[in-house]
Amino acid sequence: MTKLLIAVMASAALARSQNPQGVPENAVTRVSEHVYAIVGFPNIAIVVGSRATLVVDTGMGPRNGAVIVREAQKLAKAPALYLTTTHFHPEHATGEQAFPPQTILIRPVAQQDEMDRRGAEYIQLFSSRSAQNKELLQNVKLRPPDLVFDREIKLDLGGVTARLFWLGAAHTKGDELIFVEEDSVLIPGDLVQNKLVPNMPNEDASAQGWLAILDQLETLHARLVVPDHGALGDGSLVAQERAFLADLQGRARALERQGVSADEAGRMLTTEFQSKYPDWTNLGPLANVVRRVYAESR
Ligand SMILES: [Zn+2]
Repeated sequence: MTKLLIAVMASAALARSQNPQGVPENAVTRVSEHVYAIVGFPNIAIVVGSRATLVVDTGMGPRNGAVIVREAQKLAKAPALYLTTTHFHPEHATGEQAFPPQTILIRPVAQQDEMDRRGAEYIQLFSSRSAQNKELLQNVKLRPPDLVFDREIKLDLGGVTARLFWLGAAHTKGDELIFVEEDSVLIPGDLVQNKLVPNMPNEDASAQGWLAILDQLETLHARLVVPDHGALGDGSLVAQERAFLADLQGRARALERQGVSADEAGRMLTTEFQSKYPDWTNLGPLANVVRRVYAESR
């Protein structure tokens, strides 16, 4: 692991302890020639070209959004600003009103659809979790996208190209992935993380879809990965994520064939994976993955 990544991981831990639901000010890390990251909750990626800047994700609520706008403006080489969101969950999309009016907001059709159907429900849900969330999510106004795409759109930012693409449901129905071609940096939203169990909160998530997407991401041979949560890493995170999820899917299917209930399998595999993957710190979301595997085998 490079010195840079170790430094990023250390600053990530610090940022989280200072502001558990936020994006820290003055904490931009350079990831590659054109890509920068703010490590926080969630991590934010900023891609800077000579013609335009692309921001990936907004932070939770307008106050976090405003931090990101300030950092993006410091880095930008030209006034044109694109904004995209990896999925509709509040910490990734509800800061959008803080962005200047001329910002071009881009999303996959599937994600916008999901935002229209469930965006308000998730703002309520997140608000109910803590007083801090509630305050951050007060007066959120979602703005309509300026540009939507079905499968893929390529942005020429000037000397650097960002591919924005949608490959189907995984964490949500509308997960978007971004690949910065010249720098070989993958910005995978929640789909590739560093030793964090895949989060499948409800019936819109798909273990099968997630694995199929990881197969396609492996063909990119990304050099670096900027996940939305947790520590940044190199391209090996894709294979690591795939191996964990495939192992879990295989074990869940085996228990299902033996007639074990989904709930019981969730408990058994949480214990089993705790000893098998000791450095994966939070196995709380594992039982939900098992539920999805069971639902998908029917
Ligand atoms: Zn999410």
